[in-house]
Amino acid sequence: MQIHRNYPLRAHNTFGFDVKALYYAAPSCLEALGELLAHPSYNAVPRLVMGGGSNLLFRKDFPGLVIHLQLRECAKIAEDETTVTLRAGAGVVWDDFVAHCVAHRWGGVENLSGIPGTVGASPVQNIGAYGVEVETAIKQVEALRIDDGQPVVFTHEACRFGYRDSVFKQAWKNKAVITHVVFELSKSPALVTHYGSMGEALEAFPGAGIEQVRQVILHTRRQKLPDPADLGNAGSFFKNPTLPKAQADELRAAYPQLPTYPVDDQLTKIPAAWLIEQCGWKGKRAGQVGVHTTQALVLVNYGGGTGNDVLQLAHAIQQSVRDKFNIQLDTEINIV
Ligand SMILES: Cc1cc2nc3c(=O)[nH]c(=O)nc-3n(C[C@H](O)[C@H](O)[C@H](O)COP(=O)(O)OP(=O)(O)OC[C@H]3O[C@@H](n4cnc5c(N)ncnc54)[C@H](O)[C@@H]3O)c2cc1C
Repeated sequence: MQIHRNYPLRAHNTFGFDVKALYYAAPSCLEALGELLAHPSYNAVPRLVMGGGSNLLFRKDFPGLVIHLQLRECAKIAEDETTVTLRAGAGVVWDDFVAHCVAHRWGGVENLSGIPGTVGASPVQNIGAYGVEVETAIKQVEALRIDDGQPVVFTHEACRFGYRDSVFKQAWKNKAVITHVVFELSKSPALVTHYGSMGEALEAFPGAGIEQVRQVILHTRRQKLPDPADLGNAGSFFKNPTLPKAQADELRAAYPQLPTYPVDDQLTKIPAAWLIEQCGWKGKRAGQVGVHTTQALVLVNYGGGTGNDVLQLAHAIQQSVRDKFNIQLDTEINIV
């Protein structure tokens, strides 16, 4: 396997930042990955595992080894009357995996259609969209430990999934290379259509199944989100804050238009995009970076911007949301 030096990452991060990796390798099998992790030359430098680079913000050149996994196999490993179990390599493009499942009428991930990135990254932030999080379909995650290359298997419970969160962003951050994800999908899926105007959009398709759910979601996403091929971005930059119900009620009394989503009896989620918009940021530009004109949660690189430019803008947004609403916005993105 070739190891590149000073490798350009511009085409490998969806913000399109012009940064380099000191070393870069793209292992396409487990043996090659094992050899790379055991190689004494690269043990002493920081290591970063990446997939599609659609949830990464590089502040500067990466002074270590970027591991860009290419494990691309996907196999059915079990089946019974109601479910199928698939094991997919970390390098499989996420939306190709969804398309494969939908084509076979295996349900569970269709609401996650159109999310950029790879299968290997999907458990890291427990990707979610349109009322579904990937954790509902994940049975287990297989990985190699970065420090010694030893295999480790995470059961669903061990993944400690949360809202845009998992053990891979916490205790195991930068300590495991996810090599495969095992999914259990349903042969007779119940559609999840409660999110936003999805139910309404599906009324145009009487007897709709997961194929129509996928089509509606792909169409909606194309309308709402900038395509990184046209405008550098990494999707939602901030998480939606979850507040104690009493605080959310107080806020709602002051701002009756505030949309709120109950999490349980105690907690309420509110849209970060609404808070950002109320602070006047939507469509604002700061040099070569800015806040997207129609989706305030998305920060964009118009070309030639840097990770630090975006971070500076993000900090200014966080400060004004704190000042106006006394709410701390946390970032969803991984800052390198
Ligand atoms: C236009 C757009 C829309 C988006 N919409 C959504 C959305 O609706 N919902 C949502 O949840 N996300 C969304 N995202 C964010 C992003 O697509 C997801 O977070 C995706 O899972 C990132 O995958 P990736 O392969 O690009 O990961 P990368 O950006 O390459 O990496 C993300 C993180 O995962 C780690 N990682 C990646 N692969 C591995 C591995 N094999 N083993 C261990 N760690 C690994 C990296 O080190 C990094 O910390 C969107 C992004 C864009 C650009």
